[in-house]
Amino acid sequence: MSDYNAYDAIVVGGGISGLMSALTLGKKGNSILLLEKADILGGNCRTYEPVDCPGWRVDTGIHAITELIYGPLKQLKHYFDPGKFPAFRQHNDYYLRKKDGLERFPSTLPGFLNMSALPAKDKVILAGDLLNTVISRAVFGDKQKAVYDVISKHRLSRKTMQFVDALSYLLSGLSMEKTSVSRLVEGCGFSSGGKKGIIRRIAEMAKLFYNSDYRSQGYPLGGIQSITDGVISSFPKNVKHHTREEVRQIGQVENGFCVSTPEADYFADKVIYSGEVKKLPGIIEMPVKWSRQVKELEQATAMTIWLGLKKPMREFNYNGSEVFCDVCDTDKELFYWLMPVPELAPRNKGLVGVSTIIDPKKCHDSEEKLLNTIYSMVPAVEKNIEMIHTQVMAPEKASVSLNYFPSIKTPVKGLYVVGTDTDMRSMGITRAGYSVLEMLKSATN
Ligand SMILES: Cc1cc2nc3c(=O)[nH]c(=O)nc-3n(C[C@H](O)[C@H](O)[C@H](O)COP(=O)(O)OP(=O)(O)OC[C@H]3O[C@@H](n4cnc5c(N)ncnc54)[C@H](O)[C@@H]3O)c2cc1C
Repeated sequence: MSDYNAYDAIVVGGGISGLMSALTLGKKGNSILLLEKADILGGNCRTYEPVDCPGWRVDTGIHAITELIYGPLKQLKHYFDPGKFPAFRQHNDYYLRKKDGLERFPSTLPGFLNMSALPAKDKVILAGDLLNTVISRAVFGDKQKAVYDVISKHRLSRKTMQFVDALSYLLSGLSMEKTSVSRLVEGCGFSSGGKKGIIRRIAEMAKLFYNSDYRSQGYPLGGIQSITDGVISSFPKNVKHHTREEVRQIGQVENGFCVSTPEADYFADKVIYSGEVKKLPGIIEMPVKWSRQVKELEQATAMTIWLGLKKPMREFNYNGSEVFCDVCDTDKELFYWLMPVPELAPRNKGLVGVSTIIDPKKCHDSEEKLLNTIYSMVPAVEKNIEMIHTQVMAPEKASVSLNYFPSIKTPVKGLYVVGTDTDMRSMGITRAGYSVLEMLKSATN
């Protein structure tokens, strides 16, 4: 299209999936307009200075970026201008914090059998369940099953059941009854997900004994903003973007779409929508069955508390992150995920972020519980705090549950959806990357 206000494609939303869609389609020579309703680009992939905490910088949630060696970001790297792809430091290990110190969180089956946190009998039963699950996925393919349905629930102690439930919440934001087993198996690095032939699926079982996926995780130096900045600064001239412009309506016109915001009407052959898929039927008329299905997508809410420390603490002197359990609630264990991010702290100070899944109606209680738990696990923290900043966000637009999951192509020709509610593989930004690769396959053929 060559008319004024007309583009080859319009991208709705400027989070990391919308930005990477605009970059890749733009580098393929398409004229692109990206419309973002917020006053800043980046969505959930930003680093900022909280207004009430001058001098401190925090990310939007704590982040370990997965599959850096061979995953989607690596495959999208050549779209970035030279020198603009962020540098990552390796995220070495996950640890389990116990009252007497840290224990490495297992990343292989033998490592799991050595873990001291669970009773020996339960470890053997769970290891058998894991082996069965991985073998059956390798032989029969990825059947959608709940974690609860693949564990020997009647033979495991209550403590171990709570552990598995807490791990499910940590990885998907949902209970073990609702968490898909693929999220657990992929989240623990025993499979990299996606459609594969039987030979590759069987070969992947070696990951049970040698798990290189942990080694492919990293944290971008300069904060997660450096991923967003790398994309924006690589935009070619044919990619335009407007902030503070919300897309309110998308209409189908001859050979394309009319995309309306309070400021103007724009026209395009294709639309790439990167907002929440379940909100799309409110913007464009979609088939009733599809609209009903996407409404079912489940979303978790996470609370992250950033603790600015007066000085770095030896308790957090490791490269990786840790999990620990809620000690204030005996009925239900919940994992907290803590990551030291020293590179964002002012000189000679420390910074850690702690995240957990919460009930959004109980934010105040969750904040108090989270702080009390960390004070109880690492007592020296309390006296060393200089800054507290709390965030409540949806980590991903849809949790990997057993429900229907939309694909990149919608029932409307020329309308595509990207983001963390359109691809189930891996985590957040990597999931967004996978969705952009799938969109490129469909939208540029
Ligand atoms: C606590 C926490 C921990 C996390 N941990 C990790 C991690 O360890 N590893 C990892 O990879 N990821 C992690 N993530 C997730 C990751 O940050 C997000 O999944 C990712 O940034 C989502 O990108 P997105 O573009 O799909 O969605 P979003 O960032 O939500 O972007 C969507 C954008 O679309 C805009 N928009 C929506 N509707 C419209 C409209 N109608 N018109 C115009 N604009 C619109 C929105 O304003 C927004 O900017 C974490 C997130 C949190 C909160």
